[in-house]
This record gives sequence, structure tokens and C-alpha cells, in this order.
Amino acid sequence: MTFVRNNISQLAGYVPGEQPQGGKFIKLNTNENPYPPSPKVVEAIQVAAEKLVRYPDPVSTAFRLAAGEALNVDPDWIICGNGSDDILTILTRSFVDQGDLIRLPNPSYILYRTLAEIQGARSQEVNFNDDWTLPTSFGDPEEGLKLVFLPNPNSPTGTVVSQEEILALAEQLPCPILIDEAYVDFADFNCIELVKQNEKIMVSRTLSKSYGLAGLRFGFLVAQPSMIEQLLKVKDSYNCDALSIAGATAAISDQQWLRDNVSKIRATRESLQSQLTQLGFEVIPSQANFVWCTHPEAEVKPIYEYLKENRILVRYMSYPNWKEGLRISVGTDDQISACMSLIQSKV
Ligand SMILES: *Cc1c(COP(=O)(O)O)cnc(C)c1O
Repeated sequence: MTFVRNNISQLAGYVPGEQPQGGKFIKLNTNENPYPPSPKVVEAIQVAAEKLVRYPDPVSTAFRLAAGEALNVDPDWIICGNGSDDILTILTRSFVDQGDLIRLPNPSYILYRTLAEIQGARSQEVNFNDDWTLPTSFGDPEEGLKLVFLPNPNSPTGTVVSQEEILALAEQLPCPILIDEAYVDFADFNCIELVKQNEKIMVSRTLSKSYGLAGLRFGFLVAQPSMIEQLLKVKDSYNCDALSIAGATAAISDQQWLRDNVSKIRATRESLQSQLTQLGFEVIPSQANFVWCTHPEAEVKPIYEYLKENRILVRYMSYPNWKEGLRISVGTDDQISACMSLIQSKV
């Protein structure tokens, strides 16, 4: 195709996990929540649906007030997006020029790489240490380095880097670092307080996983107000629609629903981990709503395929320098036992 920019025609394009549109699948492949969102979400969307003749609030004020209260930050420290993927796009467009460099860990979320490629920028992947900490080189300054991405908990591993490590990295780095907290509600700690300590630290969140609202498309970023002010210039004028603002505001205002949901998922996660271990899988203890497992002897790709034939989707992944493995999202107890009995018959 001769009309588009060179880096676009050369781009493979990011491929999200399978979303089968027909048939009945048990979906354990894209880390969606197995439980419905707070009932207050649907009520709020119904009310908002009566007012669609008007443009939405361009800066999602209602959500920022509610999120500010839930997270104990001031609303002008928050910018909202059409999913946190939109936040990642806004950040890349704001900080990264043609020829610049972004850095991410390996293995990790590869959308970051695609976003860099769209800008015509380069990306650099740094391997985790064996104990899932990061080498100090992850914080090394480098010519052209403009943005660093760190999912925490990481995907697909479910591991976390400590607050102390993150603060030290930020101090060492010449550029902003995004802590992508898509899964943090399932973890033991988060990094919101670090944003107040170092202006280079930014934290993104999504309502897709822990709030059970992947279909709504709503995410947000917490950063210092001087940073938010710049990012607001880059986002689409109405990047969040009226229905999603209403739904997301109701969701983040119902913290009791979140706590109940998270405790169910964490309990199922522990049981999934011990069942996999009993079948001889190597499992890294997860702080997210999925479990990454590899097997020292059995091939895992046939297990993925066998599950799919039986209408259960998990994610098969192989990364350069890492063992191939399966990432299994934490579903309901029933979904996990259906999945585990099929796996048991294959190893
Ligand atoms: C799911 C996910 C996101 C994207 O979330 P959306 O808000 O649905 O766009 C961002 N980062 C990571 C690491 C994810 O796994």
C-alpha cells in the first residue's frame, strides 16, 4: 500500500486475544471478570441513555471526582480514556517522536511495542531477572529514550516489582515511566502514592478487569497535574462517551462490590495455582486475575488446542528467551474445575 506511512505498511498490527462471536465458550483467555459488574452500573447507563442528544463532558468530571475519592487523589491528577489502551496511545503520542526509543520488560504486554511502531519509534525489551525483579539496566538513561512501560502486576507472569524498585528506577531514568496497573486490584499493593513522590511516575488503571466492564471501554491515568494538563491537549475531544462515563462513575463509586469480587477471584486463583502445581506445572505465584504456567515435560500447545476443541479458551504464549506457557484467567470455581479436568486428562 503506497499511500500510508512506511512504518504503518510494515506494521504487523496488534492482535488481541480471541473473542468468539458465536457459540458458547468458557473464556479464560483475556482476563475478563467472570462475574457481572455492580448492578448500579446498568442503572446509571439507563439514566444516561435518556440524554444522548447532548455531547458528553469532555473531561469526565463526575468520574474524576468519584475516582479521586476512591483513590485519595485530587481530581486534577486524573485523565480518563476510552479504555486504558487509549491512555497508552495518548502517552505515546505525547512523549514519543519518530526515531525515539521506548523501553518495556520481556515477557510483557506487546501492545506497547505496536504503539511505538505507529509513532515510527524503536522499542527495547529488557529481560526480567530469574526472580522476576528487573535488572538495574532497566533504569539506565539512553539516547532517545522517551517513555518506559512497566505493567505491575505484569502480564503474562502475574509478578510484581516492588515500590522501592520502581522509585529507584524513576530516579535513575531520564524520562517518564508508566506503571500499568490494569491488574492491581488483585494485588497486595499499588503505586498511586509514588506518583506524589516523583513526577516521572504515572499510573494507569482500567475498569475492564477488576470492575467487570471490558465491554464498556473505560480507563484512566493518575499523574501530576502539570503532566495531565499537557496530556489533555492530545486526547480526542470526546474520548469517553456519555454511557461509559455514567457506568464507570457508578462502578468506581461501588467499592464494596469491588472488594467482594476481588476476594472471590483471589480465592479461586489460589485454588487454581495449587491444582496446576499438583499436575506438575510450574506456576509463578500470581498477583493478578490470571495464572501463568509452564510444564517441565509436557508440551503445552496441544493442551491449549484440546481445551479449545472442548470450547474452553486459554491463552497460549511463547516469548523469545522464555519457556512457552499457558495464561489461564481466573474464572468462576465451576469454570476452573471444567478447565482443570480437561487439562488433567492431557498431562
Ligand atoms: C487488559 C490490559 C490493558 C487494557 O485495558 P483496557 O482498559 O481494556 O484497554 C492494559 N494493560 C494491560 C497490561 C492489560 O492486560
